[in-house]
Amino acid sequence: MGNIVRLAVLGSTGSIGQQTLEVVRALPHRFCIVGLAAGKNISLLSQQIDEFKPRFAYYQGKKSPAYPDCQLLSAEEIAGHPEIDTVVIATPGRAGLMPTLAAVKAGKTVALANKESLVMAGEIITSQAKKNKARILPVDSEHSAIWQCLQGEKEKVSQLILTASGGPFYGYSPARLEKVSVQQALKHPSWRMGRKVTIDSATLMNKGLEVIEAHWLFNIAVDSIRVLIHPQSIVHSMVEFTDGSVKAQLSYPDMRLPIQYALTYPERLPNLQLPRLDWGNISQLTFEPADLDAFPCLKLAIEAGKKGGTYPAVLCAADEVAVDLFLSQRIKFTAIACLIEEILGHHQATAQPSLSQIIAADHWARQKVLKLAGAGL
Ligand code: MG
Repeated sequence: MGNIVRLAVLGSTGSIGQQTLEVVRALPHRFCIVGLAAGKNISLLSQQIDEFKPRFAYYQGKKSPAYPDCQLLSAEEIAGHPEIDTVVIATPGRAGLMPTLAAVKAGKTVALANKESLVMAGEIITSQAKKNKARILPVDSEHSAIWQCLQGEKEKVSQLILTASGGPFYGYSPARLEKVSVQQALKHPSWRMGRKVTIDSATLMNKGLEVIEAHWLFNIAVDSIRVLIHPQSIVHSMVEFTDGSVKAQLSYPDMRLPIQYALTYPERLPNLQLPRLDWGNISQLTFEPADLDAFPCLKLAIEAGKKGGTYPAVLCAADEVAVDLFLSQRIKFTAIACLIEEILGHHQATAQPSLSQIIAADHWARQKVLKLAGAGL
């Protein structure tokens, strides 16, 4: 080893993007930032360009600041560029789909933090990755945990157990959830994440998307993936093998650890900035099933994952728009699940969809949510 990895970070101004750059700062001899891409946070992107001096950059904003040594390319062009070895896809939501596809088509190592791309187009992305010898390495903490548990194992597994913190509303009744505010929903008890993922964690939709993501990453049936609420957020997920043995991965909840593992795999490197578990303060680790009546989004996602076709794309699109509506205080927290259920009920799915059919289903679902929400549901 010892070779410098040429890195592109897409979504560099978001939570995962910023934490990726923290890992790069902590291990500067290992990485060279060649590409950065961001949405609308131009001021932070400018600082990052000044600091890391990438050769390529992309941003969504209208104004175009000039960087003499930095060429402006699209996110897809950066993802597939021959001068880049590893692409970190930290772009949130649907915007991550096309860059992920571009990266796998170009045979890159893809450190994937965006779950929507696999949920929407898992079949296309995994088959393209296989065809072009691209590696998809998970960054999500649960999938990183499963991946770490699978190291050195050759046998098929009998089940995957995804853990969930339960979010800020763990233990709430459906009636109490009717009255929760945006501020309450944004207060996640254990993880530092972006706004969309934080709301998805509060509804448990995040866990549902992770079930579908795990199905594609580890080639295992949705039925063989179980979700358990583990409020301490120390066991990041588990794998049960055919002999009944269970392996778990434990660590302090800090996204920089799974990010670093994906970037340095198969090596594990010391990083003094990563906090360690303080065993003197851990009195119990608890596990219990999720309350599907209070958190119907988890059930909706698992059902969409089992049905497959365009259902997961519709689920993702409806969720993205519904979460936006909640964040702008136009709908109640509990209306997120109601809207998604309604849209899934109206959807006429296509089995084994093409990319254009997936994108058409996504558009349809977005329009439909806005229409229903506008009508007051
Ligand atoms: Mg996660």
